[in-house]
Amino acid sequence: MALSSEERQWIDQQLSLIGTLQTEIHDLFLSAQGADACAQCQGSCCELGHNHMTLANLLAAILQDKLPAAHFDRTCPFLGDNGCTLDIAVRPYNCITFICEDVEQALSVEEQNRFYRLEQQLRSLYIAFDERYLGSSLQGLLIRSQSMAGSLFLARR
Ligand code: SF4
Ligand code: SF4
Repeated sequence: MALSSEERQWIDQQLSLIGTLQTEIHDLFLSAQGADACAQCQGSCCELGHNHMTLANLLAAILQDKLPAAHFDRTCPFLGDNGCTLDIAVRPYNCITFICEDVEQALSVEEQNRFYRLEQQLRSLYIAFDERYLGSSLQGLLIRSQSMAGSLFLARR
């Protein structure tokens, strides 16, 4: 399916904003020593994540040539031996915005407020995608595809 240049421009712009916000949110996570906490508990919350990847994430990963191999025999197909194999900018909304209590408590109140402000801004960007394309949903691509009756993911609503 060929996209018009306007459509492609809209997608590029949204994905760029999503990538920027995700990096800012992840920086807060790092400042709370989140990486150490996750390494210690060995990514246990990822074992509860199944198919969080959305249309926006897949497009970003393909356009940036950053789509790792998916392993559907794992609890999450992008869970590698050393954690998530997806770059921060293309990681699903649910994954970027989830922090467990341990990590949240390591943020100051001001940082927590900033985290949740950024989360809301990020959510709005994903919702704009959902409102524009049939195959987009915060529930993830695979769940969305089950109710699409063969429609194209990038068909406009
Ligand atoms: S966010 Fe919390 S529960 Fe999830 S892997 Fe990191 S430390 Fe573990
Ligand atoms: S996409 Fe990455 S962060 Fe999200 S559940 Fe899978 S491995 Fe974990």
